[in-house]
Amino acid sequence: MKPVLVIGGGISGVTTAVEIAEVGKEVILIEKESYLGGNVVKFNNYFPKLCPPTCGLEINFRRIKQNPRIKYYTSTEVQEISGEKGNFKVKLETTPQYVKNNCTACGKCIEVCPEERSDEFNYGYTKTKAIYLPHEMAFPYKFNIDDDFCKKESCNKCVEVCEYEAINLSAKKELTEIEVSSIVTATGWKNYDASKIDNLNYSESKNIITNVEFERFIASNGIGDNKLLRPSDNSEPKRIAFVQCAGSRDENHLPYCSAVCCSASLKHALTIQELYPKSEIKIFYIDMRVAGRNEDFLVKVQNNKNIELVKGKVGKITETESNNVILEAEDILSGKKIKYEAEMAILATGIVPSDINLNLNKDQNHFITDSQKDGIFPVACSRKPMDVSSSVKDATAAAVKAIYN
Ligand SMILES: Cc1cc2nc3c(=O)[nH]c(=O)nc-3n(C[C@H](O)[C@H](O)[C@H](O)COP(=O)(O)OP(=O)(O)OC[C@H]3O[C@@H](n4cnc5c(N)ncnc54)[C@H](O)[C@@H]3O)c2cc1C
Repeated sequence: MKPVLVIGGGISGVTTAVEIAEVGKEVILIEKESYLGGNVVKFNNYFPKLCPPTCGLEINFRRIKQNPRIKYYTSTEVQEISGEKGNFKVKLETTPQYVKNNCTACGKCIEVCPEERSDEFNYGYTKTKAIYLPHEMAFPYKFNIDDDFCKKESCNKCVEVCEYEAINLSAKKELTEIEVSSIVTATGWKNYDASKIDNLNYSESKNIITNVEFERFIASNGIGDNKLLRPSDNSEPKRIAFVQCAGSRDENHLPYCSAVCCSASLKHALTIQELYPKSEIKIFYIDMRVAGRNEDFLVKVQNNKNIELVKGKVGKITETESNNVILEAEDILSGKKIKYEAEMAILATGIVPSDINLNLNKDQNHFITDSQKDGIFPVACSRKPMDVSSSVKDATAAAVKAIYN
């Protein structure tokens, strides 16, 4: 029996792979980043239980480590798929693996590396050396080298200090051909590009950030070391505004609802209140869309005297001389126009499907559709926006479909 291929190693791809392997079938999991875990590893915590990302992912990483039926390739993408259900031929391309699996992440190479790069894990708000640990719970737990910044053999300092001979600066890209019975696409999402929403001025003010950036700002292993520091001057803001549907449910940007942004902003507002109980928060929304257990967040927010929910779409954000931001909206319930000056604004930008350069059926918003040619199954956020618990359920369903394909 040929293995199943799972493309994308976020929570849904990892779950699909583990479920398939644990019923006795071989599975190949590929991930384009150098680590598994997808967007969830970047979060401060995740609802409904507000667990850190380690909870849920770590157990799955252990299940992957312990299961010989799962073969995983990181820094890898699919180049081509041919064949049909039961007998797909797939070409994989792995970017050069300059750091081998025997790396212990001891850190000696970082001490000597002279080059710096901006850290995409923190959306460019911090820097790492050209050789770096992607993040502290990276799986596999090993260093990575940024091709664009490393001077390779002309520097060689990391190679000289590595006691484990784990670095090979002349590594080349690798091509692998595999045969699989079915394919699960678990390629997930990226954040909508906030710079496209002209009226919200994301590109013009440092103190306007997005919801995904906020997760890194507030995470204990993130930008502010568990403090919320506004980018312009590293001060701790006292008045913060959230802008819901930033580009979502808007024909000019994303016509659909991303399903998770309201719950995410409620989670974010409550996190700020926990850290700074005296802070003043306003959440501007069109409709508050929370489902299931996340209703608890809404109730908590409604009962918090320092958080105000304002029903009204923000039309414009401008920056003051002191780098504060002024949000203009109409409070629909009172009919009054509002100008609110905050020290920082957080845009609840929506979910856009990740790019996948393969000839797959997609809907008008580029999500991969269910009506695939036989044997290819889209899962979780690669097919529509959803939260983690729905993604995990979807992943289990996809595992069953792929096994009995
Ligand atoms: C601001 C914000 C906060 C959120 N907070 C929560 C929360 O608190 N609780 C909750 O339940 N949900 C939350 N969500 C939703 C949650 O992020 C998703 O449910 C979850 O990430 C879905 O997992 P996934 O595996 O489908 O996708 P992803 O997490 O996006 O993982 C997809 C993986 O596929 C990889 N990939 C992409 N393209 C390719 C390719 N071509 N080849 C190989 N690999 C590829 C990616 O690198 C990534 O590792 C939040 C979303 C947002 C926007």
